[in-house]
Amino acid sequence: MKRAPLVDHFHRSIDYARIAVTSQCNLRCSYCMREDHAKHAGGVSLLTKQEIDSIIKVLAALGLTKVRFTGGEPLLRRDIAELVRAAKNTTGIKTVSLTTNGLLLDRFLPALIDAGLDAINFSIDTLDHERYKAITRRNEYVRARENLDMLLKSSAIAVKLNVVVMRDINSDELQSFVDLTRDYPITVRFLELQPFDDNQIWRTGRFFSAEKIREMLQQCYPGLQPLTGQSTQYFSYTLSEHKGSVAIIPAFTRNFCSQCNRIRVTSNGTIISCLYEKEGLQLLPLLRGNASDDAIADLFRFAVSQKPEDGKHAGRNSSRTSMSEIGG
Ligand code: SAM
Ligand code: SF4
Repeated sequence: MKRAPLVDHFHRSIDYARIAVTSQCNLRCSYCMREDHAKHAGGVSLLTKQEIDSIIKVLAALGLTKVRFTGGEPLLRRDIAELVRAAKNTTGIKTVSLTTNGLLLDRFLPALIDAGLDAINFSIDTLDHERYKAITRRNEYVRARENLDMLLKSSAIAVKLNVVVMRDINSDELQSFVDLTRDYPITVRFLELQPFDDNQIWRTGRFFSAEKIREMLQQCYPGLQPLTGQSTQYFSYTLSEHKGSVAIIPAFTRNFCSQCNRIRVTSNGTIISCLYEKEGLQLLPLLRGNASDDAIADLFRFAVSQKPEDGKHAGRNSSRTSMSEIGG
């Protein structure tokens, strides 16, 4: 049943849901999770496939057209391809994408493509074995790199790389990533570090600004051609003779609240209306209490009505400890 679309008090239309399908992860990126993260996460409150399907159905009826599955690490869910297929088959949903560290991609890629997945964001912050181990606290570089290469060669799906740039950790690797865009039609996205990390790497002087990234890229590539980017891509470039493009995401230094079109659902069924909000609204009791689709839709409407005009400066900021709670 089609319902009135989701528009908030500041005339922003909400058409995009990020759904964390697990909070567990097979890496422990130092800017994201504590080593003992697992004991805080998971359990019976993890949304089931049926519950995720019904959330998407309600959201699509409210006019949402885009879904991104994230986590934690979404490929830790064995039913990830079925989740993608069900989302793709939901009337109204046009694109389904996934953000992943790629460690399990060799197992899932054919099934994901067959299920209709539109795009993958592959997160990898370094192309160096030892640094990968230091950043992620796991010795998994070879697997990550093999799967990245497999994905690049498959050309069956749109690919973006997510690279969180950190001073003196990987800030000297921008060129190695840009080089990948020469042969592959991918977008390399350089991300600013955000202060949502359990280890407070944030406080250790590792922040590297979008402006600084832009300066470095322009020095290395005087022929960078600006593109008109999406709202979150402050800087977006192509290079002649490169098949792909480069984007810089100033997630911290710029405020994109005025263009916000998203809502988030955590893996334990909490609706998060704003990245900077801590508490959220509990959807799980409705899902497990046989509530009607109307009641679920009403909770999403209420969540959207709570979106602050400017979350970053709304004073609700932020005791959130990890992006993995909400999927970035
Ligand atoms: N595990 C998957 C992955 O790494 O792609 C999906 C979840 S992860 C939370 C989603 C994205 O958030 C990743 O690209 C990751 O690099 C990014 N991220 C996590 N913590 C961050 C932080 N403190 N600052 C900036 N980006 C962060
Ligand atoms: Fe896991 Fe992704 Fe967080 Fe790294 S960024 S610890 S891969 S959830």
